[in-house]
Amino acid sequence: MIKKAPEGLWLALALAPGPEEVQELVKKYGRLGHGNQSEGKIILETVGGGFRHAVALSLNMLGKDLLKEWDPYIVKYLYSERTTPTDTIRLQLRDLINHGLQQDAVQSHVEWVGKKLVLGGIPNSLIGVAWIQLLKNFREPRPWLRCEYCSMPFPIRRKGAGRFCSDSCRVSSYQKQQRQSK
Ligand SMILES: [Zn+2]
Repeated sequence: MIKKAPEGLWLALALAPGPEEVQELVKKYGRLGHGNQSEGKIILETVGGGFRHAVALSLNMLGKDLLKEWDPYIVKYLYSERTTPTDTIRLQLRDLINHGLQQDAVQSHVEWVGKKLVLGGIPNSLIGVAWIQLLKNFREPRPWLRCEYCSMPFPIRRKGAGRFCSDSCRVSSYQKQQRQSK
């Protein structure tokens, strides 16, 4: 089972410089893939390839203006100007996400939402969670920062709020400062 993954897992995976950083996330939050998929293969082909590319394309489509509020490190690492026509990027992004959702363990299921029976997906692997987070951010984009204590990306909820992803990082950072000033 996957533990509750942070909201910024999708960006943390896309920002991971190499397999070791991905393994760190796997150790904390649970299996990256499912079934017979080997973790190494997913790291190299999905996280290092298709997934990161999909994140980069989604940032392109959001556009540079929207990214001004984001952590410059994230933008620098994942955004690049493209000469590819927008229509092509749209199709590529759609195909990558579809491929990811099908390959990487997002199971269709239906759920009652009031009187409507709604079709949705349940991820049963970390990369499945990440694909859904990517999709969610694309549909409802929010600016993302990185935690000053643990580097985990987190969304800005209101203007000017926060340098940390969680209360525990805020506290840890404060304690670290106290120790250093002694
Ligand atoms: Zn943190």
